Amino acid sequence: MKGFFFTTSNYLVCDKGGIRIAFFRSSKLYFLLSVIILVCLSSFDQPESPSFSPRIVTADTLHVRTGPGLAFSISATLKQNDRVSVIDQQGNWLFVQFQDLEGWISKPHTALLDFNNLSPQQQIELKSTPVIQNAPTDYLKGKTIILDPGHGGKDKGAIGTQGTYEKDLTLRTARFVQEELQNDGATVKLTRTDDSYVELSNRILASNSADLYISIHYNSVANPDLTGLITYFYHDNQDSILAGSVHASLVHHSDLKDKGVRFGDYYVLRENKRPSILLELGFLSNKREETYINSVGYQRRVAHQVAVGIQQYFKQQ
Ligand SMILES: [Zn+2]
Repeated sequence: MKGFFFTTSNYLVCDKGGIRIAFFRSSKLYFLLSVIILVCLSSFDQPESPSFSPRIVTADTLHVRTGPGLAFSISATLKQNDRVSVIDQQGNWLFVQFQDLEGWISKPHTALLDFNNLSPQQQIELKSTPVIQNAPTDYLKGKTIILDPGHGGKDKGAIGTQGTYEKDLTLRTARFVQEELQNDGATVKLTRTDDSYVELSNRILASNSADLYISIHYNSVANPDLTGLITYFYHDNQDSILAGSVHASLVHHSDLKDKGVRFGDYYVLRENKRPSILLELGFLSNKREETYINSVGYQRRVAHQVAVGIQQYFKQQ
């Protein structure tokens, strides 16, 4: 419920419409709960103004992310009792400042900081310098990555049970992956940036001067029951290592079935001079999976996990 929060196990804070009251919970004061709820409810019809009150982290650890959602990359980790300044809010996500760091954290894992309710020892602890662990995102700096959204133009690719064109979904995914990789410092080139037809031979030309190549596809088969993720490679050296890294990252955080890393005799892999893989990111021929893989949540998660897998690959080099 909006308007009041159980900030710790021992007190309740109402922070709505400028009214901020903290009560220690005891059986004698429980009758006050209804008063507080009434105060909070009475301010529900007022537009919510952004709260800039400082908050503290209540979870043991809390990830700081690059955007307001679980699909965004982790840029740092806060720990319990870290004190953050709130700058902005989107739904349950807060854009916060913490020392030299800025990013998004999940609001339910924080509580309003009421300095007056803390013991002198707790106040000292809150002022002490906490540890920040930066996520390992340096591996993509200076790397050039080619993303190949499968099909395009007259070549629609697979068509889903509900009419999804593979060529549209591959381009959407490629853009999300591009955003992730660029945020991590990589230079990213797409083999096509609109709904145009590009010959396979032209798709791999840019690959010669790149560090790696990833072709993005969605699957379709006659059997509507088949679902899952497949990662293909052709050359049995860097390609298979890259395939292993990206596939492991994908399946680790996916609700889709793991259909494994496989050898695939595809032109864009076979004729490629650089490490290259082809991702089949779900089945458009399964109605349920088609709906799911179309969601922005899935698209963003896939993009993030591909980026994590690529980082993992470069880390091993
Ligand atoms: Zn395809």
